[in-house]
Amino acid sequence: MDRKYVTETVLADTAGIARGVDILRAGGLVAVPTETVYGLAARADSEEAVGQIFEAKGRPAFNPLIVHVLDIAAAEAIAEIDERARMLADRFWPGPLTMVLSRRPDAQLAPQIAAGLPTVAVRSPAHPAMRAILEGLGKALAAPSANASETVSPTSAAHVLATLDGRIDAVVDGGPTERGLESTIIALREDGRWSLLREGPITRQDLDSVLGEETPSNGAIEAPGQLARHYAPGKPVRLNARHAEEGEFLIGFGSVTGDVTLSESGDINEAARNLYACLHWAREAPQLRIAVAAIPDEGIGKAINDRLRRAAAPGS
Ligand code: AMP
Ligand code: MG
Repeated sequence: MDRKYVTETVLADTAGIARGVDILRAGGLVAVPTETVYGLAARADSEEAVGQIFEAKGRPAFNPLIVHVLDIAAAEAIAEIDERARMLADRFWPGPLTMVLSRRPDAQLAPQIAAGLPTVAVRSPAHPAMRAILEGLGKALAAPSANASETVSPTSAAHVLATLDGRIDAVVDGGPTERGLESTIIALREDGRWSLLREGPITRQDLDSVLGEETPSNGAIEAPGQLARHYAPGKPVRLNARHAEEGEFLIGFGSVTGDVTLSESGDINEAARNLYACLHWAREAPQLRIAVAAIPDEGIGKAINDRLRRAAAPGS
């Protein structure tokens, strides 16, 4: 891909935040740490700025973006917030829960954000750097993960630069992210039903505890960007491995020791935090193939396994 910019790296301190806010206000692109992964932010109200997100990432136009807001009051300006949305926000915001809601007709949003859908996906992030930027700018930000489309998501500034150096204005370096996996996405439908569109740090049990059992979607709401192939490290990936076979880089977990490990002690939250860093190491390793140990399919392990299945899906 062409380099169009000299990408600045700034720290997540007062000066760095101020610089990020200035670039964003002027319509630029800034990668910002959130508690999930690094997001590639642009003003949500600018068609031109949002268009540049798609261009920098090579993201297909049918894949809608999540809008990041400071709080529920800011969400109310763009989406219809019903009682369920309010209860979820009370419980899980700021935090890694994205809600797909009906879009307000007067929402100040660039049209590409919704990719033609009547809805909008919103979340209120918890990371202090992202919150300081939202506060300084005083506007909502569109922010998908800060990586080229289909590649492994970034949990550090170095991961951002691995695919977007020269394609964005700046990255705010806030160190490694805390949760390590993208937000959970829930669709709240107007008929009172809800469905889980993407597994993430807020589990189905967490949502059940607020809303009651999930009701199956009849297909009226879908998550268009949820492609089978995603998070691709550029090499074949074998799942549920016990040992490395010849030519494989092994990502271990618990008793399966590998070239690197998701968590030596078998801690599932630590594994979520380390997943993308391990996939980035595997991508850079000399071995031509990757093997990954089995991960228990419970709690955030469901989200880890969802991402691993997509990383292992065969390429086109
Ligand atoms: P990313 O920001 O790269 O983590 O991707 C955001 C994902 O959110 C998209 O790929 C969609 O699956 C989902 N999404 C965003 N907006 C909507 C929407 N209006 N309706 C359904 N899903 C959405
Ligand atoms: Mg992404």
